[in-house]
Amino acid sequence: MTTLEIRDLHVSVEIENGTKEILKGVNLTVKSGETHAIMGPNGSGKSTLAYSVAGHPKYTVTSGTVTLDGENVLAMTVDQRARAGLFLAMQYPVEVPGVTVSNFLRTAKTAIDGEAPKLRHWVKDVKVAMSNLRMDAEFAERNVNEGFSGGEKKRHEILQMELLHPKMAILDETDSGLDVDALRVVSEGVNRAKESTDVGVLLITHYTRILRYIKPDFVHVFVDGRVAEEGGRELADRLEEEGYDRFLKVQA
Ligand code: ADP
Ligand code: MG
Ligand code: MG
Repeated sequence: MTTLEIRDLHVSVEIENGTKEILKGVNLTVKSGETHAIMGPNGSGKSTLAYSVAGHPKYTVTSGTVTLDGENVLAMTVDQRARAGLFLAMQYPVEVPGVTVSNFLRTAKTAIDGEAPKLRHWVKDVKVAMSNLRMDAEFAERNVNEGFSGGEKKRHEILQMELLHPKMAILDETDSGLDVDALRVVSEGVNRAKESTDVGVLLITHYTRILRYIKPDFVHVFVDGRVAEEGGRELADRLEEEGYDRFLKVQA
């Protein structure tokens, strides 16, 4: 059983004439096997939360804590976070020139497990995972994210998630830019990972569409850098009908 705990998290970024506070006291607890959806209007700080937990250098934690089974995540390097079992799929994944998908996956797997995967099993696992995600075998020889379409980037992220077996996965707008077929394939990948490994999932999304495929146990509405409302799956249905207007009015 793994627990990711975010307590009163405040995060700022440097801007031209000073600093700007983006996260204003986020509280969130995600346990193994649970799926939490974070929903909210554009600019509410959802990606900032993902970047902060990932350890992106642009985002400064000014107060609050992030722990994984009591261990201080904020004191860990990005590599240590991955080895601790955290997996972060970013809204805008970066290119890794000169590194093929195949090499990238094997290096990541080796780093996380502390030993190289047995080649025969590994080759088979990669093949099966790629085929499940409807990816051509030749995709493995392309350079990471170089010229990937939106859909290919998302599939590649879920491929990593399926092969690396994280304890906690944060998926930022995994649904953005996907057509219905790709959305279904990617969602099935997340659901396979959930079934086979008891991973905890923090699913960040602006739209309710992906929640038809990946069923959240909890829904948190993010407004202006903090959680404004929480509920179960029914809260997503309500947002689908009403949008975020009532939250934005309160703010004005
Ligand atoms: P969301 O993912 O909910 O759309 P973001 O976390 O991307 O929101 O952004 C929240 C707010 O913080 C926005 O107003 C955005 O412009 C601002 N912001 C995010 N990252 C930076 C940055 N690196 N520099 C300056 N402002 C930023
Ligand atoms: Mg956004
Ligand atoms: Mg975002």
